Amino acid sequence: MNPYDFVPVDWEHPPVLRPLVEHHNLNGLHGTIECKITAETPIFISNDPDSNKPKKFLQNSQGEYFIQGSSLKGMLRSVVETVGPGCWVLFDGTYKGEDDGEKDYNRKLPRNFSKCDNPDKLCPACLLFGIVNGDKVHYQGRVGVDDAICTNAVPHEPIYTIILSNPKPRHEIWYLDHDKLAGRKYYFHQQEISTLSGWKTTREGKKLNQYLTPLNGGSTFLFKVSFKGLDNEELSLLLYALFLEENMRHKIGYAKPAGLGSVKIEPVSMKMTDFRSRYKVGAESQVFDANKLTDYINEMAAVYRNKNSITMEALRRIWRWPPDYQRCSYPDREWFDKNSMAPISET
Ligand SMILES: [Zn+2]
Repeated sequence: MNPYDFVPVDWEHPPVLRPLVEHHNLNGLHGTIECKITAETPIFISNDPDSNKPKKFLQNSQGEYFIQGSSLKGMLRSVVETVGPGCWVLFDGTYKGEDDGEKDYNRKLPRNFSKCDNPDKLCPACLLFGIVNGDKVHYQGRVGVDDAICTNAVPHEPIYTIILSNPKPRHEIWYLDHDKLAGRKYYFHQQEISTLSGWKTTREGKKLNQYLTPLNGGSTFLFKVSFKGLDNEELSLLLYALFLEENMRHKIGYAKPAGLGSVKIEPVSMKMTDFRSRYKVGAESQVFDANKLTDYINEMAAVYRNKNSITMEALRRIWRWPPDYQRCSYPDREWFDKNSMAPISET
């Protein structure tokens, strides 16, 4: 069984597109939410280059372990794109096959799901997180995510992961299911992590697995999410993407197929100002402590938590916590039989 599955898209309900209104930045709900991340499994984030030494967890200039805000933002955006729903911003529709040449999948994606490119018609994900085309930022978005700084690092021994990459990249993200895109790829949480006793290499010496030093389950991080000019619907969607449901967890970082990266995100506090009422009395900032914030989130996120659709049901099943999925033995025997790189050797 694969360590991932696809969250299907309800093709009958395309993204609702709305114009970007400049005064969004002045009106609406502005605020900052402080959040706590607790690793449920070992977790690993790095920008170390490949070498024979175990890769180290990312550290900032003060020597603190951290998770980049951009990684967290990407994770939140993909939840928003899934449940919003949003456009398929990463979909370019063309893949180079190893044996059957380039394929154009553009026609497999219904037009009303394609990437937003008109500021008068933006999907919920682009309205919240902005539009980036290559290196060019067309619109910043109205949600900012800071780096998550580690407040308690539980050490873990270096590990050799299982083989993480799929040999056929064009199958990586967008499998076709009966000639339609199968959906968005999400990794299951796993009860145990999967490791090997050393490097796996091809006969030519190409490394197929990773050697890394994760932080262990129980490690904690704090980070802030800021937002401006949101309406109630947008804040509901953001809060759902952040805190999901009681028996769901996010997955972030490296080695997801090996069972790493399951995290719990909890609210700590929020400060919010409602600028829709700034000309009225009492438009000052409201401060929510953890209890008050939990009640507020329960109220705001209920629209998604109570929603049943093929999309929501699949997301709940794949990101269910605690997991049903025991551990991954991926790639399996069949992979080695089909793959020209086999046989591999353990060194
Ligand atoms: Zn969009």
